[in-house]
Amino acid sequence: MNELLKEKIIKKSIEIGIDKIGFANAEPFYDLEEKLIKQQEKNHHSGFEHKNIPERIYPEKIFDDPRSIISIALAYPSKIPNPPKREKGVRRGEFARASWGIDYHTILRDRMDQLIEYIQSELEEPASFKPMVDTGELVDVAVAERAGIGFIGRNGLLVTEEFGTYVYIGEIITDIQFVPDPKVPFGCGDCMRCVSACPTDALLGDGRMNANKCLSYQTQTKGFMKEEYRQQMGHVIYGCDICQLSCPYNKGIDFHLHEEMEPDPDKVMPELKPLLTIKNRDFKEKFGSLSGSWRGKKPLQRNALIALGNYRDRSAVPDLLRCLDQDPRPVIRGTAAWALSKIATSEDEAVIEFLEQAAIQEVDDEAKEEITQAVTIILTKTLRKNKRNRG
Ligand code: SF4
Ligand code: SF4
Repeated sequence: MNELLKEKIIKKSIEIGIDKIGFANAEPFYDLEEKLIKQQEKNHHSGFEHKNIPERIYPEKIFDDPRSIISIALAYPSKIPNPPKREKGVRRGEFARASWGIDYHTILRDRMDQLIEYIQSELEEPASFKPMVDTGELVDVAVAERAGIGFIGRNGLLVTEEFGTYVYIGEIITDIQFVPDPKVPFGCGDCMRCVSACPTDALLGDGRMNANKCLSYQTQTKGFMKEEYRQQMGHVIYGCDICQLSCPYNKGIDFHLHEEMEPDPDKVMPELKPLLTIKNRDFKEKFGSLSGSWRGKKPLQRNALIALGNYRDRSAVPDLLRCLDQDPRPVIRGTAAWALSKIATSEDEAVIEFLEQAAIQEVDDEAKEEITQAVTIILTKTLRKNKRNRG
């Protein structure tokens, strides 16, 4: 059953920079069906996933005569070798690790295309292939687990023995029959660290999550971020790595195997203030190659405002007032007001007055609500302070 070809593919995969490869059968993913239906019913999905559940479960619905699925993994770095030095008055945001380097879709696509080309060249009869990376129909982690690359941890991520969870994964469905690799057994044991570490209780404890509550999803939405997530977001303006950082399988793991995954410190830890007013062209030039820019600049600018609020950085007040006054987008004006409410105190009479005026002039209902709320928060702080001083 193509044993020799499998061996050759494994050898080739190492040559072209694939760090782990596994072969799975292409049977339906029956055990996912109930999980995916429940996830949809309970509204635990993010909306970014492929929507047609049968197509996620039955490979034959998306491919003619599927016989095998080849799963690949590439390890990405977890540490920035030369992080930017701290400078007074300069506040930086952070992109989560999976968004460092060039967009992983591009990298995985390239490796899978090379692999397919190689396999084709080894065959006498043409075969069919369908490569996929995360936006495809199949559930990447379920394929990778079946192909023996790792197991699905309680954080919902693929945990590999060698690289922890710091791997990008992709898969290729094919009509070539290969001997499947054995599945890796579940390795979390009694550990619940990621579940306890998750600041929003998004992890359900059995590998499933409420994606709506996940900060990674929240940082990618385009409207106002719900109040409850703003503080939890901290300074990470795209994604969240908390459940990766808490995982013992990731301890000491930091692989720098691929040039194109090396983080540019100034991009993945960008200065926040200049990000607020960056022009479309500059944004594309600077951040366009990162996967974290896929939703455009607005969510990142909104998150930059939240991060500045979380820093309680007084030097950001003029920038925030400028956004409130001049930005044409209600989400930016409203979020700037929220950030001001985190920073301003009773002594900032000019800021309070500015916010009051802005609330009167605001035409968007949600932004108006945010600005009004910001005034209330600052004034409540004042009342609390007065009470403390009296008491
Ligand atoms: S990425 Fe962050 S918010 Fe999402 S499940 Fe992990 S720890 Fe929780
Ligand atoms: S932190 Fe613990 S429970 Fe979570 S994925 Fe890692 S080993 Fe599993």
